[in-house]
Amino acid sequence: MSGARTYLDWNAGAPLRPEARAAVMAALDVTGNPSSPHSEGRRARAIVEDAREQVAALVGARPAEVVFTSGATEANNAVVTGGWDTVLLARIEHDSVLAPVRGLEGNGRRRVLELAVDANGVLDLGSLDERTRQAREAGAGRSLLTLQLANNETGVVQPVAAAAAAARRQGLSVHTDAVQAAGRIPVSLAPLGVDYLSLSAHKLGGPKGVGALVVREGAALPPFIAGGGQERRRRAGTENVPAIAGFGAAARAAVRDLETVDRVRALRDRIEAEVRAATPSAVVIGVDAERLPNTASVTLPGASAETLVIALDLAGVAVSAGAACSSGKVGASHVLEAMGLEPALARAAIRVSLGWSSTERDVAAFAGAWAQVAARAAARHRERAVA
Ligand code: PMP
Repeated sequence: MSGARTYLDWNAGAPLRPEARAAVMAALDVTGNPSSPHSEGRRARAIVEDAREQVAALVGARPAEVVFTSGATEANNAVVTGGWDTVLLARIEHDSVLAPVRGLEGNGRRRVLELAVDANGVLDLGSLDERTRQAREAGAGRSLLTLQLANNETGVVQPVAAAAAAARRQGLSVHTDAVQAAGRIPVSLAPLGVDYLSLSAHKLGGPKGVGALVVREGAALPPFIAGGGQERRRRAGTENVPAIAGFGAAARAAVRDLETVDRVRALRDRIEAEVRAATPSAVVIGVDAERLPNTASVTLPGASAETLVIALDLAGVAVSAGAACSSGKVGASHVLEAMGLEPALARAAIRVSLGWSSTERDVAAFAGAWAQVAARAAARHRERAVA
């Protein structure tokens, strides 16, 4: 393996932006606790509040609406376990939404209603109407619709504004997991019409282990970590000042780079074109739907995603199979299953994802490695067919 690596797994984690690194390093040397009233404490507080402004600006929110968390997993858990009687969701959500909701189901008083998606994984708005009506007729109590803004595996974008409007007309609260969308497409709280929105710093070039839950002013949410009075009493604990500083710097840079996403889209489109040219039987998933500009989900009938990912890695290219953030897990993806993709196609799906520093060279390196790896997969497939 040569030393040069090609990193095409930005949806699992983006490289740290230089601005974020600088902000983290500077904040590490700040001594005070942000809750202390002395000068040192006020310096730390200023870093946190500056970052809060940057994160709020990324999603068109007010700084007071931003609650810093340890990441989007915590933010998603906090919302969906926030005392709802009924939760509506589709099976395309990230595990950090699905798993805590499944936990609620065990508790007899709570109801979970599943929404249908089409072959691209896009929410069926008719199914949402039907489920909200059912929920109301059954005396649903406090109800939440949770709908991701963009899928981490396919990049498919959901009609969150339309779904939120329909749900709110029926008295539901609405949450969106905007982790993969933020910094890649414009995201704005008010036009989306949601009450809660989750973000993760490391998907936009900030450090890992920090994120935010944006809570619309006036939306109710019980405190989710009890203790001191930090984060407006919602999330206690001394703030992770360096990580928050890095998140703020990454958010600012992501807003700036939104203007350059067309360049990333062109690279992604070339990757898909290279795949189609080298392997005409390959299928690009979700092409008929609106998608993030940086994500390609491709599948090669007869191959195995795990083998493709390992072979590409050996050829110097990092991509992922299914949802890579729950690493090690290589089974059929629940997202592709929910879309009704044939198991043979779902088993062979890999995700190639790019970002602001991706280059033509990355595309060329991927194309070269894909041609080699796919030829070997086809040979193995033929051998198996003959045997
Ligand atoms: N939601 C989505 C859509 C994600 O892709 C991820 C990360 N894979 C998460 C939530 C969890 O984010 P974090 O890593 O910050 O816990």
